This record gives sequence, C-alpha cells and structure tokens, in this order.
Amino acid sequence: MPQLPSPVVEVDDDRLAARGVRLLLKRDDLIHADVPGNKWRKLALNLTAAVEQGHDTLLTFGGAYSNHVAATAAAGWHHGLATIGVIRGEEHRPLNPVLADAAARGMRLTYLDRTRYRARDDPALHAELHDRFGRFYLLPEGGSNTLAVRGCAQLAAELLTQVPTADVVCVPVGTGGTLAGLAAGLAGLGDPAAGHTTGPGASPDDRRRAVGVAVLRGGFLPGQVAALQQATFTAVTANWTVLDGFHSGGYARRDRTLDLFIADFAARHGLTLDWVYGAKMMRALYATAGDQQIPAGSTVVAVITGRCDDTGRR
Ligand SMILES: *Cc1c(COP(=O)(O)O)cnc(C)c1O
Repeated sequence: MPQLPSPVVEVDDDRLAARGVRLLLKRDDLIHADVPGNKWRKLALNLTAAVEQGHDTLLTFGGAYSNHVAATAAAGWHHGLATIGVIRGEEHRPLNPVLADAAARGMRLTYLDRTRYRARDDPALHAELHDRFGRFYLLPEGGSNTLAVRGCAQLAAELLTQVPTADVVCVPVGTGGTLAGLAAGLAGLGDPAAGHTTGPGASPDDRRRAVGVAVLRGGFLPGQVAALQQATFTAVTANWTVLDGFHSGGYARRDRTLDLFIADFAARHGLTLDWVYGAKMMRALYATAGDQQIPAGSTVVAVITGRCDDTGRR
C-alpha cells in the first residue's frame, strides 16, 4: 500500500537562508518501497484504468536502466497483473540490477534494436506486439500519458494542503510528465475540488510556479511538457520553466561538480541524492536560489521523486 500523503520536511541551510529562500522537501521517495516517487504517482491511475478495462497484462517501453520499467514490474506484481518490458537495444547477460529486479518481479523482457525501438509510439509496432503477446494495457516509455499527468496534478493538490504557502515547486525532468502534471495542478487544473474547469475557458492561477530541471540535453523538453498538458487538460499553463544548464553532460552523466554537490548535501543534511535525477534538480535549485525563477522571499518545495540513500542528519 502507498504511504500518502508523503511527508514534508524542512531543510535548514544557511546558504539558502542567505539568499532569502526557505526550502522544504516533499519526500515522495517514501511513498512505496518498490514503486517510489513519481513512478507511483504516474502509475496509480493507469493501474486503476487497466483493471477497470479488464486487462491482466501491462506492456511498456524503456532503456536498460529505466526506473519506469522496474516500477511497472513491481506495480504489476503488487496488483496481480502480468508485465512485459520492451527494452531498447540488445539483451545482455547477466541482466543489470534494474532488469534483474524487473525479471524477479515476473516481468517478461523482450528487446528491440535501436532502430526499431524508435517506432515505440507507432501503432504498427503495437499491432505486432499484440500479435505476439495478446491483449495488454500499453504504457508509453517513461509512463508519461494523460493519466500519469493527472496523477502528478494530484501531487500538487496534496502538497498545497501541506504547504499552502509554497511559491515554487521543483522537480527533475526526464520525459516531462511529472512537471506537466505538477504545474497544471499548481494552477488549479485537474482538481475537481478546486472547482476549476479545463479547456480554453479555464483561468489558471499562475501565482505558484513549477521549476523543472532537465536531466538530459536536447532542449525539446518544454515542447514535450506543453504537449502533455494540452493532451491532458486541453490547456497549457504559463506557470512553469525548464532549467537547462544542469544535466552534467546528458542523461545518466555525472561530473565532478555534481559529485561534490552530492557529497556536500549528504554531509549537511544526511540525504544522498541520486545523481541521475534528484542531485541535478537540487544543484540547480542551489545555483539559482535568489535569481528570477526562485526569487528571494520564496518558500520552495523540492520534490524527491525517487529513491535516495537516507542516512539521517549527521
Ligand atoms: C522517472 C524519474 C523522473 C522523471 O520523470 P518524468 O515524468 O519522466 O519527467 C524524475 N525523477 C526520478 C527519480 C525518476 O525516476
């Protein structure tokens, strides 16, 4: 069972205080041991939909180190659904820890070479997969579909009940689904309780901002975030930004600056941030606190979107 709401804790850091920024962490990593963070937020409504539609199998796509693939395997396991992972590239034995974990949760793994994998959103490929595997509920790469975006809008609603004074909320950005939902939720979309409608007539509340930190290079993420909001809410909110200069060379790349930041943050706050996502977000937050996106006087909530090594305060 998921542990909700996830806890919020304050981070006491003189460097942020000196720039007039108050920082809280939304510990989504603690939602579920096997399906942590934004992976749970993105899968939850999809699992309900799959079961409601009478499916017994989930199929999804990902790279060999995809957290989403591992989370899908675990979520299927817990919900009694079979899972199929379509993995980019060739099979390597022994399986790496992520895929070994997925296989241990009963996921059937199949591989597509890089050229064929590019067609992962192509209905013709999906038809082929149906011929091979029968009926399944399809989750796109990274799990970012409209139900995932709605799940992340609920993150915003939950967070605002805990921290009504939040001005800025930060998340790392991989495919953009989390940022799309979070920003929409902060603007009041996707929350029937808030009385907002979606669509061109909606009047989103732009006071609260979402700041996403790109963990990969390419500059295509803002377009992707806008497209996901459009598909989900038929509206694109203006209350979000993607910071681009903090990917340390690209997806799953690290450099000395990032490693030093992780060590320093762990020594000060007892939390070892993961270098693929969480550390890049936090470094960007520290680097830009007090600037235009995170002005002095802000209460900032950083969402810990995935597992990290929590050693407690030292
Ligand atoms: C998958 C993942 C993300 C990226 O989320 P998107 O919705 O794809 O942008 C961020 N943080 C962690 C820890 C993740 O595992």
